Amino acid sequence: MNKPAANESDVLVIGGGLHGSSSAFHLARRGVSVTVLEADYIGRHASGVNAGGVRTLGRPVPEIPLALMSREIWHNIVETVGDEAGFVASGQLKIAETEAELDECRERVALLESHGFTHEKIIDRETLRELEPAITPHVTGGIWVEHDGYALPFRATTAFRIAAQRHGAVFHEGTPVTRIEQVGERWIAHTPRGVFSAAQLVVTAGAWAGELAAQAGEPVPVHPEGLMLMVTHRVAPFCRATLGATGRPLSFKQFDNGTVVIGGKLIGIADLPGRHGEVDFGRLVKSANTVVDLFPHLRHLGINRAWAGVEAFTDDSLPVISRSKRASNLTYSFGYCGSGFQLGPGCGKLVSELVLDGVASLPLDAFAIDRFEALNGAPVAAS
Ligand SMILES: Cc1cc2nc3c(=O)[nH]c(=O)nc-3n(C[C@H](O)[C@H](O)[C@H](O)COP(=O)(O)OP(=O)(O)OC[C@H]3O[C@@H](n4cnc5c(N)ncnc54)[C@H](O)[C@@H]3O)c2cc1C
Repeated sequence: MNKPAANESDVLVIGGGLHGSSSAFHLARRGVSVTVLEADYIGRHASGVNAGGVRTLGRPVPEIPLALMSREIWHNIVETVGDEAGFVASGQLKIAETEAELDECRERVALLESHGFTHEKIIDRETLRELEPAITPHVTGGIWVEHDGYALPFRATTAFRIAAQRHGAVFHEGTPVTRIEQVGERWIAHTPRGVFSAAQLVVTAGAWAGELAAQAGEPVPVHPEGLMLMVTHRVAPFCRATLGATGRPLSFKQFDNGTVVIGGKLIGIADLPGRHGEVDFGRLVKSANTVVDLFPHLRHLGINRAWAGVEAFTDDSLPVISRSKRASNLTYSFGYCGSGFQLGPGCGKLVSELVLDGVASLPLDAFAIDRFEALNGAPVAAS
């Protein structure tokens, strides 16, 4: 591709979360010029405020190859972006609290094995309690994924941004795209800071991406949710793995500094026009109770801070990772339904392949943007 003039590049990326930053990194390292336009600042939204779970455990089957590929990158994160991004291979554990829940876990692992995936392992009560001795004795076992873990969200997103910049990508913060249009062969993005253009457009605008897809003539049923997290005071080390539960929503980990982060797709309030999420304290109580059920010694532990981030959810709980079916040179990657942090490093690579090669190295049919039309038998109305 040719050398670009100011405000012109080979690829324009709208949205500077982890997916935009990772896409920019993987594109720029292949030698094309990349400009990222971010309405707020890089990592301001879901990518910078999430629970940091690097989890292949519990993924829908179509996502598993992507999650396993992405996990390889997490394990080589220093070689990839030059920063450890706070990645810790703590392992992830899904706890069963009844025999029925353990049966559910067994069915899940059998289903995965029938698809050839062996990364999730059933463990019994004794093994679980050896892994996590502080856990309540009423657990019955669970699923263990040894090579999963967690990372630091804002640091990871920043690491991809800096690595992309090292390869020449240019990031414009405080630059909301108000309108996109294709003029001849080029894509034009209108912003209060002027017009940007490129041969290829990538939409990684998270919860706001639906608006841009609708402008391109292919509306998608995507809606925002305000996902909540809370972090406790410091407490002596008692838990090494990142935990989830089978029968109730939970995501739980203890950092080296002793604080515990508690979440699990807890729905708060999403204010899309206001560009922020709000905590619903009533709903946080339920999660706090789950934690105390599993670790009774935390009963008196205080909460330091709670927050909510805005995340994009689709009707079938799978993301959109797709070339446009209506326009040329347009690629989408959004709608990660509360689980897109882990996928960020890998999906950025797949996006770069879609843009530069026209095809990705892993099957993406399940994530096609026109799948909702196929489901409904008619084009989707803009929401
Ligand atoms: C509280 C919480 C906990 C979570 N926990 C986990 C977890 O443990 N593990 C996991 O894998 N996932 C988790 N997730 C999900 C994960 O954070 C997201 O799936 C992922 O970060 C989505 O990244 P993104 O780049 O698509 O979106 P975002 O990070 O939201 O980035 C999109 C960016 O686009 C920008 N933008 C939007 N519209 C425009 C426009 N018109 N012009 C310019 N810029 C625009 C926005 O300002 C934003 O910065 C969690 C999410 C939340 C909120």
